[in-house]
Amino acid sequence: MTENELVRYGRQILHPDFGEVGQKRLKDSHVIVAGLGGLGCAASIYLVCAGVGKLTIVDCDSVELSNLNRQVLYCDEDIGKHKTSAAAQKLARLNPSVELVPRYEKVSPENVQLIIRGADAVVDGMDNFEGRVALNCGCVSERIPFIHGGVSGLNGEATTIIPGETPCFNCIFPTIPRERGVSPVFGVTPAIIAAVQVMEAIKLLSGLGDLLAGRMLYVNGTTMSFRVSAISIDPACRICGPDKNPSQASMRPCS
Ligand SMILES: [Zn+2]
Repeated sequence: MTENELVRYGRQILHPDFGEVGQKRLKDSHVIVAGLGGLGCAASIYLVCAGVGKLTIVDCDSVELSNLNRQVLYCDEDIGKHKTSAAAQKLARLNPSVELVPRYEKVSPENVQLIIRGADAVVDGMDNFEGRVALNCGCVSERIPFIHGGVSGLNGEATTIIPGETPCFNCIFPTIPRERGVSPVFGVTPAIIAAVQVMEAIKLLSGLGDLLAGRMLYVNGTTMSFRVSAISIDPACRICGPDKNPSQASMRPCS
């Protein structure tokens, strides 16, 4: 660790269960944020500020005026720009020591394994089920932890999927619900859920604390209640079920 890093991250290094060892583990980690909407913007900010070594940000959209109530990496002059380039510019200023890899592309079953291969964790910043299904398949086949988050209105949820140990996204949501068009969302809801996702990532990568593994956190902002429920592996899951041979996992296509 450099003198600069010891000062920059000093307040988190102070945590007795984290320390310089935890910080070094973060520095040696590669995290992918897939989707740069409300969740992905807030998650990227906190991952970069925490000092993750390498961050890949993936999105295929451009910034629109209607994004600005919740997608906190963008401002008016970014409207029309690719989210990946606008986000990378801001994130580089927040912490120049983080290696940023912007990927302007749509996550699909065909390319997901190539995008995430070699990463230590994938953070779900998606706003649609198809993207999450593709990410889940890629993470299960590549054995990469997938930190799911989802929001709607004042409500949100989060869980950490560890392939081979916990239910995967398909175990939890075996069928894709019909998309109901544009759903309402306040900026603070993805902020809360993204903060939970990054706390999970920091713990996962550094070995600190207990994860939301096999548990789903439900946040109800209307009543301001937080609830955690156990979630179960589906033994017949077509993505992570027992007939899937982990040793051949990376050879199994998601498309
Ligand atoms: Zn499963």
